[in-house]
Amino acid sequence: MIRLAIQSKGRLNEDSLKLLADAGIHVDDAKRKFLGKAADFPLEVLYLRDDDIPGVVAEGAADIGIVGYNEVAETGAAVDVVRNLGFGRCRLSLAVPKTVDYPGLEWFRGRSIATSYPRILGKFLSENGVEAEIREIKGSVEIAPAAGIADAIFDIVSSGGTLVSNGLAEVATALRSEAVLVARKDLPADRKEILDRILFRFDAVGESRGKKYVLMNIPTERLQEAFALLPAMRSPTVMPLAIPGWSSVHSVVDDASLWETVERLKGIGAEGILVLNMDKIID
Ligand code: ATP
Ligand code: MG
Repeated sequence: MIRLAIQSKGRLNEDSLKLLADAGIHVDDAKRKFLGKAADFPLEVLYLRDDDIPGVVAEGAADIGIVGYNEVAETGAAVDVVRNLGFGRCRLSLAVPKTVDYPGLEWFRGRSIATSYPRILGKFLSENGVEAEIREIKGSVEIAPAAGIADAIFDIVSSGGTLVSNGLAEVATALRSEAVLVARKDLPADRKEILDRILFRFDAVGESRGKKYVLMNIPTERLQEAFALLPAMRSPTVMPLAIPGWSSVHSVVDDASLWETVERLKGIGAEGILVLNMDKIID
């Protein structure tokens, strides 16, 4: 049995449970319970505040955890980051009132900055040779300048909407973050084996993200041109159609370039193009 800590409620809870479910590990959404058990995998789930996850894993009360990298960096907990998980993306940035004519980081010299991330901010300031006063507050950091608590803030930003609605402008980024899978450093061998099974499944789920499975019919004489447009995993799959002169081509395409690829394929005579979602890619 391996014990996994995830956020009990909040931004990472749902995506964490979804990743587990996609990996065939179903834990009840027991948000009010402290501990749950997977029905179909040797795994227990511990539901915690995100701030507590790195420390609990470092101390071994949980073996592994899913948490924002920002919390790992802030706590400085001695854990191994074993995977980036591709959700919960955000950044930790400095922001100043938008009325400030901002000249560069030297503006912060001697000024006060409100934050819930004093450790990351302290490191960033000292790396940049700026001495400023760090005011640690636990929440509602974005109102600190308007409330006269601090001159500026250092906080989590994703879209930037919260900053704008509080009359703030983002001026520098110290850290980029996403959800990560962390593990305790002295994981016993039997649990390391379970972790490897989890990683194998997470990787298969992760591989399929941002990719589509594409099938189409194409005149056989234009296959070489189609191959140039379709990188696929090893190479595209080709099957002859019952009608002479036509082939069916199957391949995997990145979401980002999907429409461009489809337009080019149409340009070389592709017909009946089907675009399908994929669940998993197992390498
Ligand atoms: P908890 O009650 O567990 O302490 P919290 O209020 O500290 O929760 P959430 O707001 O739920 O935390 O955010 C959890 C994590 O989600 C953050 O630590 C960060 O890694 C990530 N995240 C992604 N985008 C954002 C965002 N726009 N604002 C805040 N956190 C974000
Ligand atoms: Mg928290």
